[in-house]
Amino acid sequence: MESLCDAAKVLKSNGVRVTPARVVLLEALHSRRGPFTAQELHANLPARSADLVTVYRFLARLVKASLAREIVGSDGVAYYEMACAHNPVHPHFECLSCGRLFCLPLFREEDSARVLDYGTGHRVESVSVVFRGTCAACLANELEEGKK
Ligand SMILES: [Zn+2]
Ligand SMILES: [Zn+2]
Ligand SMILES: [Zn+2]
Repeated sequence: MESLCDAAKVLKSNGVRVTPARVVLLEALHSRRGPFTAQELHANLPARSADLVTVYRFLARLVKASLAREIVGSDGVAYYEMACAHNPVHPHFECLSCGRLFCLPLFREEDSARVLDYGTGHRVESVSVVFRGTCAACLANELEEGKK
């Protein structure tokens, strides 16, 4: 398996001060299947290493530095994921039943080019595509409910 980015190095090279909590948070963001809410990332940190407000500020900093992507759900909850070469731009799926946000497979190369084409005349900095509907687990539950 391809090794992941070195969290401390990534922070340093982007002029972000390195602290143990920040390294743990960035590693969690990078190594686990996302996307994650700030609460989920906070819960993953060693106890008392950083409060939730600090986590929010750090995530905002990462997004500003284009190190992380922020995807906002229809309920206004923000989800975060790593924005490095290990996690290329891809669409997301939001379940309107359970509220979970999922990563969908990558755009195929020809699709990515087409998506960027929509910005003709404008400079595209980021692309955010969210499909909304009912997730596989909720669909299965619905079927089960229907059987009763
Ligand atoms: Zn990476
Ligand atoms: Zn669902
Ligand atoms: Zn994703």
